[in-house]
Amino acid sequence: MRLSDLLETNISKFGEYPFLHFKEKQYTNLECREFADQFAGGLKKRGITVGDRVIVCMPNCPEVIFAYQGITRAGVIIVPVMFTLHPKELHYIALNSGAKAVITSSPILGNVEKALEGLASKPIVIVVDQPTSERGLNFYDVWSEGSFVSGNERKEDDTAVILYTSGTTGNPKGVLLTHKNLTSNAENSVKHNELERGTTIGVLPLAHVYGLTISNICLLMGSSIVIFSTFDTKEVFRAIEKYEVKNFSAVPAMIHALVSYSSAEEYNTSSLESVSSGSAPLPVALLHAFEKKFGAKVFEGYGLSEAAPIVTAHKNGIEIKPGSVGIPIPGVEVKIVDENGDEVECGEVGELCVRGENVTPGYYQNVEESRRVLINSWLHTGDMARMDDEGYVYIVDRKKDLIIRGGFNVYPRDVEEILNSHETVSEVAVVGVPDEKMGEEMVACVVVKPGAVTSEEELITYCQEHLAKNKTPRRIVFLETLPRNGVGKILKTHLRKTVAEIEI
Ligand code: ATP
Repeated sequence: MRLSDLLETNISKFGEYPFLHFKEKQYTNLECREFADQFAGGLKKRGITVGDRVIVCMPNCPEVIFAYQGITRAGVIIVPVMFTLHPKELHYIALNSGAKAVITSSPILGNVEKALEGLASKPIVIVVDQPTSERGLNFYDVWSEGSFVSGNERKEDDTAVILYTSGTTGNPKGVLLTHKNLTSNAENSVKHNELERGTTIGVLPLAHVYGLTISNICLLMGSSIVIFSTFDTKEVFRAIEKYEVKNFSAVPAMIHALVSYSSAEEYNTSSLESVSSGSAPLPVALLHAFEKKFGAKVFEGYGLSEAAPIVTAHKNGIEIKPGSVGIPIPGVEVKIVDENGDEVECGEVGELCVRGENVTPGYYQNVEESRRVLINSWLHTGDMARMDDEGYVYIVDRKKDLIIRGGFNVYPRDVEEILNSHETVSEVAVVGVPDEKMGEEMVACVVVKPGAVTSEEELITYCQEHLAKNKTPRRIVFLETLPRNGVGKILKTHLRKTVAEIEI
């Protein structure tokens, strides 16, 4: 199946049903297809053809969906980019992908212009909410010039999307995702979760693989999605009530915001049965807090861009094991290996590897890195994990975040879980800093709950009471907020710089 087929499969049954809600507007599946077909024609008219790359960089809005569907219908490759990226990062992506066009919106246009400075061949700039000017073409002008495109010759093994990883561990890498990678992952997620048609809320950015997949799943099922340009807690509650939402997908930072919202009881959230969490570790204390406050389950899952993205997840009908990311979804195999690539015993920690139709063929123009992570068709994820005797996977931490303190391995996640369970702690991230004596020392960066009072001594004593001695952080640093990327992941590289100067 190709990306454009997701919409095709539901159109005969659900063509007249709304697919997309945005602010006060809604669009049926048929309307989305019409927009997409004509936009595909508009791109062709502008000389953008099969195999070319087009960047889409703007906050969620209907045109993101029309653009994705139009680009793919023209046989062109979609390059979704988070609008929160720095112009330097966008410059890198534009250069690396050789994009022929950038589709954006007026608040982001200035950054796009900066990003495109110095490029030898300048992409066309298309702006969704501004008339055509010397700064760029209007999206609907391009659209209206197009004639309907009813299909293309792309095969399911052709590249559909190049997704640049968020770069939390270095320079972004262009993950190649084929049509089959994405559509098989959407199909297998539907099977795994036994999802029913309904209305969900798209709080995740459509530029992130997780948000993209949620919209793909809705297209496949003929479900409706309510999208938001930014995450606004109040709007989310309003939409849950208005659309009687049963399930939606979020990241832990959003779940944290929903739990912390003081006026939540003003909204009727009784329709909510579950929330799915992925993309970053979900603190066990947060899972319990959400369940208690909303009486809804939290299904934690795990995925990564290179696996298009979903690998494991909890679901209805199986035991929820807090701290675990659930079991592999259908069509996805996992194994856990040691440094030699040999499978470890059940319960032992090693690197998580993934195999299946969802796994990327490699990185764009980066043979070396592709060879490093893809070995005999197994994707080496760089995530350390263990599996229990019932096949539940537990992500221990990223291999790169491991702290080696006095020769002992400490995974920050273990320490974070303990600090998260302290009554005054709102959020925490633990990082390693160089230390002459121990090699590395641990610093915990803590955000305290509003109105709560604690001290470095109190939290260190708490860690000593609950953790092995070598896992107790040396210092606790109190911060107002933790630095996060556009999808709410904590940027540990930034935190390491923040704490580099403190006395150990
Ligand atoms: P980069 O690779 O450049 O750092 P990134 O890791 O943010 O970018 P993504 O593909 O967005 O790229 O994120 C995938 C990663 O997110 C996984 O490899 C894993 O480390 C982390 N992750 C996803 N889900 C979970 C989860 N439930 N628990 C812990 N970590 C998770």
